[in-house]
Amino acid sequence: MSDALQEYFGNPSSPHKAGEKARKLVSESRKTIAEIISAPPSSVVFTSGGTEANNWGIEALSSMITKDRPHAVTSKIEHASVLQAFFRSKKRGLKVSFTAPDATGVVPLEAIKKEITDKTSFLSLQLVNNELGTVQPVKEVIDYCQNLGVLVHVDAAQAFGKLPINFADLGANALTISAHKVHGPKGVGALVVDSELRLDSLLVGGGQESGYRAGTENVAGIAGFAKAVELLSLETQEIERIRKMRDVFEQQVLQISGVTINGASATRVPHISNLSLRSIDIDSFITRCNASDICLSLGSACHTDNPDPSHVLLAIGCSESDAKNSVRVSLSRENTQDDVKNALSVFRKILSPTDSPGRFN
Ligand code: PLP
Repeated sequence: MSDALQEYFGNPSSPHKAGEKARKLVSESRKTIAEIISAPPSSVVFTSGGTEANNWGIEALSSMITKDRPHAVTSKIEHASVLQAFFRSKKRGLKVSFTAPDATGVVPLEAIKKEITDKTSFLSLQLVNNELGTVQPVKEVIDYCQNLGVLVHVDAAQAFGKLPINFADLGANALTISAHKVHGPKGVGALVVDSELRLDSLLVGGGQESGYRAGTENVAGIAGFAKAVELLSLETQEIERIRKMRDVFEQQVLQISGVTINGASATRVPHISNLSLRSIDIDSFITRCNASDICLSLGSACHTDNPDPSHVLLAIGCSESDAKNSVRVSLSRENTQDDVKNALSVFRKILSPTDSPGRFN
């Protein structure tokens, strides 16, 4: 990215050499990102991140509804950027069904089938839930929707880099990805669109991004996104190591009294563990962990300032107090067994100070 800032400072829309150099970098980056999800480069539209891509995808699909099909379906456990986009479309007349997940944190195909009628125009479903890590039956849902002419947007922000994504095979009409989920920079992502989606321009002006999103491109951010994607091939080899660390962490943390794991029985991505911790003050727990350099999130990072319990945990049937007393532990390729060992020791000290430290193998 620093190369991009220093050496590719031209404006990609400019005709001169510096502009051409920057234009090439954006174009190569688009190819790299398209390739990893088996999509044509022309289908990748850069955005300011997953939130913008989700807002825009749902806005585009909402604008395509007809009088005969005024209805859309999503789930109760979507990211706020999807839910809020639906609330906004609802105010303008879209009818929306919010499908409940089961107790494991998965939205069953059968539950979705029950919501879809001949009035349904589109559906949006996440590939992986960001708080629980649970994998949703997106492919099965898309196959079902395709037969009924229901268009589908997939929020793949949390799945990207953790599960293989093949846009062509998946059959989604729109798909969201975000760079910072794969160790890329914050503030850049993409909406991937197929030819059935009628995408109106989000921003008008200079006609960048094929006229869909005007404004000089975030060249360094886009180059950083592509670099992170190039490095993902390393991550593939790391996935089993991360899963093993997460599984050992969970085995050991469950031995501390009052700890439960949410969504544990579903198929999950390897890097997320969502814990409910009984009889503790969650804020002081997080503060004490933070003091020991253990960075935890309250469910979703975007909810840090929101004192309400997680809508995801409530939707899977957690009590209000268990939902409030929950933390998300995320691991990445940057973590080692020592980090896990350290986290377990800090958790034990805070949650059961009289227990012996236990072993980490
Ligand atoms: N969707 C999911 C599932 C996410 O986990 C996130 C980020 O936390 C987003 C969307 C929003 O992405 P961004 O932070 O790039 O706006």
